[in-house]
Amino acid sequence: MHDFEYLAPTTLAAAVAALAMPGARPLAGGTDLIPQLREGRRRVARVVDLKRIPDLVAITPLPAGGVRIGAATSATAVAAHAAIAHDYLALVETARLIGSYQIQNRASLGGNVCNAAPSADAAPVLICLGAQAEVAGPGGRRTLPLEELFAGAGQTILAPGELLAALVLPLPAARSAATYVRFTPRNEMDIAIAGAGAWLRLADDGTVAAARIALAAVAPTPLRVPEAEQALLGQRPTATLLAETGRLAARAARPISDTRGSAEYRRELAKVLTARALAACCAQLGLTVEVA
Ligand SMILES: Cc1cc2nc3c(=O)[nH]c(=O)nc-3n(C[C@H](O)[C@H](O)[C@H](O)COP(=O)(O)OP(=O)(O)OC[C@H]3O[C@@H](n4cnc5c(N)ncnc54)[C@H](O)[C@@H]3O)c2cc1C
Repeated sequence: MHDFEYLAPTTLAAAVAALAMPGARPLAGGTDLIPQLREGRRRVARVVDLKRIPDLVAITPLPAGGVRIGAATSATAVAAHAAIAHDYLALVETARLIGSYQIQNRASLGGNVCNAAPSADAAPVLICLGAQAEVAGPGGRRTLPLEELFAGAGQTILAPGELLAALVLPLPAARSAATYVRFTPRNEMDIAIAGAGAWLRLADDGTVAAARIALAAVAPTPLRVPEAEQALLGQRPTATLLAETGRLAARAARPISDTRGSAEYRRELAKVLTARALAACCAQLGLTVEVA
């Protein structure tokens, strides 16, 4: 690994100042960044460790409902937090999917989204939960819907000197449910060949009042599928409807072929996983919908 300077600021302002220096890169858990440096896939002049900044490793329930998760908080801390376990079970389950216990003890959700791998597991479920990305930089703070953070495979819209400070989740609506499912050849320590997140909110009459669907590893960025979401609105969830929604998701997918799977295979997975994620949401809401 090449030499670089290690900086460990203890305030957000100091981190922003350090990131303005040439060749600086944030370091959270390092489970993506360190292998990239070791294998020569990325060069940096300095790394700015975010884990010593209290604001970035705190989970704070918000007074008006919802929760703010410091971007460098470990997956383990997220999964163990009582407020998150109570309101965002899908996020707990996803945090527990990432790598192994050892990886989860280091890996942050902020690192997962800022690494911007198309296969990142946390991105679809956070998008489905309505996460906002709180960004801090030389110009102050700004907030944007998480899906707008991604610019391409391995790329975010963060400007030089900016960092992701937190992920902010709204309070879940009544009669809503979310989930994330992925397909990996192995049960653990594997990267998703494809994944699907879903969120549903039912109206009093049992029809779908609102829906979000976000896919992993079938496009350069996490892929929200508005046309599939629209197809659900005003409808009662049935096996036929969920299968059709899966087909719409597959049609929107723009997968590549690589050593882990062909584009065709990924498209098929997008279809199947979308229907299964929606069926799992239905099950949480007390509806049984059998899908393939
Ligand atoms: C053995 C192994 C298994 C894995 N399994 C999975 C898996 O199952 N699912 C999965 O999705 N991933 C997996 N990963 C990838 C990795 O663990 C996750 O993406 C993890 O969440 C990255 O978080 P981190 O805190 O370690 O990020 P880091 O490595 O510290 O950072 C990742 C990137 O994001 C940038 N960054 C970090 N924090 C910020 C911030 N706050 N603001 C701006 N930029 C930032 C860094 O500069 C770097 O470019 C695995 C990795 C390993 C080594």
